[in-house]
Amino acid sequence: MLITGQCQCGNVSFNLEWLPDPTRIPAWACACSFCQAHKGVWTSSPSADLKVKISNLALLTRHTFGTRTAEFLICKQCEDTPLVTSEIDGRLYAVVNIHALQGISPTLLKYFHSNFDGESVEERTERRRRNWIANVSINGL
Ligand SMILES: [Zn+2]
Repeated sequence: MLITGQCQCGNVSFNLEWLPDPTRIPAWACACSFCQAHKGVWTSSPSADLKVKISNLALLTRHTFGTRTAEFLICKQCEDTPLVTSEIDGRLYAVVNIHALQGISPTLLKYFHSNFDGESVEERTERRRRNWIANVSINGL
């Protein structure tokens, strides 16, 4: 299934190829203060393929906090946060924001609440390696 997504203004857009076709798409509502403030609800599949296109890099902010192991990509123009990336052993991993997905039937979404506060950096890295999108390319970065 090819899922397209973008920030509100379209400066950041992506193609997410999710194979095999998902019977449901997990939507993780993260409890951290940043995600609460930025409507951060994330999805990923380790076998998916993500191609991101950024039209104007000058309109992009990359925000890190906490353990500084992940980067939130924020569009300055519309203030959306369409994706988060994490580099692990030289490989780029990512999750995408549910709010950025286009044309997804709400019945496909299965919501979870997550709280990763107690995790060590090692646990966090392992979880991302297992669950995050492992094939990520971003043009312009
Ligand atoms: Zn935007």
